[in-house]
Amino acid sequence: MKFDFFRARNVVKGLLMAAAIMCVVAFVTTGEYKSISAIFGYTAIGTMILTFAIIFFALRCPYCDARILRRAITIKVCPHCRRNLVSGMKVKRKSIK
Ligand SMILES: [Zn+2]
Repeated sequence: MKFDFFRARNVVKGLLMAAAIMCVVAFVTTGEYKSISAIFGYTAIGTMILTFAIIFFALRCPYCDARILRRAITIKVCPHCRRNLVSGMKVKRKSIK
């Protein structure tokens, strides 16, 4: 399965959001609905593991194929080949934040 960087990043964002919502649901339902809470809790953990797996395997620079792990959600410039991940243009060191 081949992801492009932005599609993978959107999937990661969606999964993180889903995991966060499930954590909240698990927290809210704890006590009265223990079994429901457990289901949501485990699903949230599973979703997070899946999310990290996607980050690890799919978030790669499309130009130099380097893994982008740090700040993968907000990064715009590949830290390895210094190309803009959108345009592919080389970026000077100064403009990287
Ligand atoms: Zn790169």
